[in-house]
Order: sequence, then C-alpha cells, then structure tokens
Amino acid sequence: TTKWKTDLEIAQETKLKRIQEVANDLDLLEEELEPYGHYKAKISLDVMQRLATKQDGNVILVTAINPTPAGEGKSTVTVGLGQALHQLGKKVIIAMREPSLGPTMGVKGGATGGGYSQVLPMDEINLHFTGDLHAITTATNALAAFIDNHIHHGNELRIDVRRIVWKRAVDLNDRALRHVVVGLGGSTQGVPREDGFDITVASEMMAVFCLAHDLQDLKKRLSCIVVAYNVDNKPVTVGDLGVEGALTLLLKDAFKPNLVQTVEHTPALVHGGPFANIAHGCNSVIATKMAQKLGDYVVTEAGFGADLGAEKFFNIKARLAGIQPAAVVIVATIRALKMHGGVSKQELQNENVTALQAGLSNLQKHIETIQAFGLPFVVAVNRFVTDTEKEIATLIQFCEQHHYPVALTEVWEKGGQGGIDLAEKVLDIIENGTNRFAPLYDVNEPIPDKIRKIARIVYGAKDVQFTSKAQKQIDQFTELGWDRLPICMAKTQYSLSDDPAKLGRPTDFTITVRELKPSIGAGFLVALTGDVMTMPGLPKHPAALNMDIDEHGNAVGLF
Ligand code: ADP
Repeated sequence: TTKWKTDLEIAQETKLKRIQEVANDLDLLEEELEPYGHYKAKISLDVMQRLATKQDGNVILVTAINPTPAGEGKSTVTVGLGQALHQLGKKVIIAMREPSLGPTMGVKGGATGGGYSQVLPMDEINLHFTGDLHAITTATNALAAFIDNHIHHGNELRIDVRRIVWKRAVDLNDRALRHVVVGLGGSTQGVPREDGFDITVASEMMAVFCLAHDLQDLKKRLSCIVVAYNVDNKPVTVGDLGVEGALTLLLKDAFKPNLVQTVEHTPALVHGGPFANIAHGCNSVIATKMAQKLGDYVVTEAGFGADLGAEKFFNIKARLAGIQPAAVVIVATIRALKMHGGVSKQELQNENVTALQAGLSNLQKHIETIQAFGLPFVVAVNRFVTDTEKEIATLIQFCEQHHYPVALTEVWEKGGQGGIDLAEKVLDIIENGTNRFAPLYDVNEPIPDKIRKIARIVYGAKDVQFTSKAQKQIDQFTELGWDRLPICMAKTQYSLSDDPAKLGRPTDFTITVRELKPSIGAGFLVALTGDVMTMPGLPKHPAALNMDIDEHGNAVGLF
C-alpha cells in the first residue's frame, strides 16, 4: 500500500512565493499590502474605496451533507476548486475562515484543507496566524472587565449582577471555565458574581466582527451589544457603557483581511471564523466583499452541512451584505453517505452499495434545500482512495438519473488538476443555470414563523415546539423591537433534526426551541435547540498529544 504524505508534510515541501508576488497577481498596490513576515499579509481597507465601482466577482459557496466522523472535506474541496479555476486561467480568490485553537488542539486537527489542496503556511494559520483571534478574545475580555469595573465603582447603570449575559472568552476547549465565580477576595477585589467563558469563535464579538462591512459599521454594531439587564429588566448595552470606541480600536488591525496562498499559489483570504452550530459559520463579510473586488470568482465555504452553514450564509450573511451568490457546490463523500445509511465507522472500508443507497437520502435533502433558495448547484464527490468503483458509479448514477450536475473530485490527491471537471461544471451553471436566489423568509415576519420556515423547508421537520421559556422570550423580544432580525439557528451539525443520533433523512420529527438569545450587535436572534455547546471540552486523547516540534524548529503532527 502507498504511504500517503500527511497534510503537514505536503505543506512543508511546498516552496511558497513571497506574499508580494501573490499580491501582484491581484493587482494590489504596494501601499495596500501590509506584510506579516514573508508569506502572510493584511490588506488595507483602502482597496474597497479604490475599487468601489468595479463589478463584484461571482461568489461560489461550498457546502456539504451532514458531517459524520468520517469527514467530508469541505475545506479541501474549497481550496481545490479555487486551484482548478486558477489553472483554467480565471482570476479567482478563495475566502475561508480562520481556524480556532479549540478544535485544532482537540479533535479536528487543522482547518486549512488537506492533501494537495491546502492554504499555507498551514502551521501558522492553524496556530496564531496574524493574531486576529487573540484580538477578538482581548476585546471580549476587555468588555467583561469594563462591566465588572462599572459595577465596582458604584453601578450607575444599575446592572443586575445576576443578569449579566456577556461572558469572557478564550480560544481553547476548556470545560473547567464554563461556569466560574469572579470577584472573590473582599471589597477591594470587585463584586462577586457567577460568570463563564465561551470559546472565542462562539462569542458574539466574533459574529459582530464577521458581519461588519467597515470600521464604522463595526463600531455601530459593537455599541448595540446587550451585555446585561438592569434591575428594571431593561437591556444595558455597550453603548450605555461608552466603550464601543475602545473595542473598535482593539480590533482595527484584526479587521483587515489576511492574504495567503495555496499549495499552487492561488490567492486566499483567510479571515474571521465563527462556529456554524451556535454562530453563523462563515468568514468575514469584509473578506468576501474584498475578494469580490479583487477577483472575478470567489470560492468560499460555510461550516458543517447545508442545513446550518449554507442556510445561515444565505439567510443571514448574503442578505445582510447584499451578496448575490452565483452557484453552490455540495460536497459528499461515499464514506459519509454510508454512515448516513447505517454503517459504523469501523466498517467503512468495506464496500457497501446498499448502505450508500440508503444514505443518499441525506444528500437528496440538501439538494432540495439549495433548490429552495433558487440556486444552481453541482454535487462534488470528494473521492477517498478507499471508495470502490461500484460505489462511485452508484453515486454518479443517482445524480445523473435526477439530472443533478455531478463531478468526481480528486483535489486532495491531485490538487487543482483533480478539480478541473468540477470547475468546468461550476462555470457552466454560472453561465447557463437558472439563478432565482432569494432568502427563505422576510425579516419582518414574526419570530416563530421565521423559525418554522427554516425547520420545515431546510430540516424537513413537521413542526416546531417552543418551551414556555422560549415563548416568554419571543414576547419580550417582540416588545423590545428585536423581532425584525434574521434567525441564527443553534442545532447539532450531525443530524437534520435536533437529535444527533438521527442520521440520513429523518421524517416526522419536531424541533424544540428551548431558548432564544439576542445577538443585537451581530444583528440576529439565536434560537437554541438541543444542547449546543459554546465552550467545548477536550477529548480523552486530544490531537495535541500528537503535536511536537523537531530539532530544526519545524511543526510536527498538526495533521
Ligand atoms: P471539512 O472542511 O469538511 O471539515 P476538511 O477539508 O478540513 O473537512 O478535511 C478534513 C480532513 O480530511 C483533512 O485532514 C483532510 O486532509 C482529509 N481529507 C479531505 N478529503 C480527503 C480525501 N479525498 N482523501 C483523504 N483525506 C481527505
């Protein structure tokens, strides 16, 4: 058997271009590039002004079926498709999220693609990169400190210390910080209260950062964040504390998109990284819009399956940023489809056409979702070396029977060359497909109606149940005038339903919304179903156990 190189080995063997060279291909001016070392740079927001009248590039969204432990390879296909379009001579830019250290050190490993379709330098992007996540963490904790300080010095805003909703953050999986008590130690050490930490990528700060379209908009959104309720049960905001200016200042450099390159020197903007289960799950609006100015084609991805990432990309990000998506790629793997058809992870290497056929129901549902948004799509079969000819033929046949455009994709093994068919089919549907894109609901509809539309159309649910707590919050939010915002669903990524054990295409199920959370700064209401974690824990054997540094100072074991 062949020994396949690890992602990190491939990354370390690649001779990178200086970042200035990558920038030259994008016709960036010298003063618009702010290099961070030799292979990373931030891009000045001045670009947006210089290119204000230039026509926006086509946005191609890469999404997937429901993830399984078998892995789907969405990031890999995103990078591979970008490289393939580059090989076809197109002016293309990839726009991706910045990895979080929680999943990197925990179970997932890196989030920079894989094989010959990666963004580089992968070790730096996966670790501290240009410090954006640290800046967002710092802004979150600065705000927490301002709140506690305000209370310590007399609490003029009459904040109810039992109803502070702003949490501290750290970009790690650290379950011991989920619930903490702060302010212990006596009258000079602050006011004791219960507090807690979220992982940075699940924080509202990250969501605000990713949805702001410029620095002034960032400041405005920050000032709207609700941090607590006062003793009269009225919301207290960042604006009330008067610290939106300071927070914007803390974020001003982080807010500039980061330019890097792929294994094949295709330019990529890697910027912002909210979770897709609790937050909206796509890279920053500013990076996507900048990519649209710098390129004719932008390949971007949204986290998890189309039920979470793509739904929020369309209903939240695209709506808010005025992005008209051009096409969608739905990534599927034989392995994951077999798991949706009932096969366990241990049995995946055995050919099993029957299970594959059963699992196709999951792909079918996501296709219907993309059709409901009125967008043309291509199914990308991300090929694994263990897939058998018979299994591949079964999947291709299913798509052809239904007239779904499909492309076998080998970008992990072959880089852009393995994605030429996919790239050509994507270009074809952009040119010739029908595009009637529209969000699924109007923001002015009542809160329960918006949630029902998502649950019925996207998840295939029969109905939605609201707990009495959620019902009360709906009434309260409506009274406060927060009802005209889009909904950010918080749901398990593993199932179309709110029960992670229900794989494939569950039917006849009800979604339970147990709580709502206002993210007024970000500009959406979070609807929580099931148990969605905002501070994950580490597994018994975290990925960190494989990580090391060799005698030459090179990273080892980052996948
Ligand atoms: P996602 O974005 O869906 O989470 P990634 O693209 O990050 O998935 O891929 C997860 C892991 O799977 C990476 O380590 C990548 O190298 C690996 N991978 C992806 N596609 C393939 C493939 N076709 N064959 C083998 N490994 C793959």
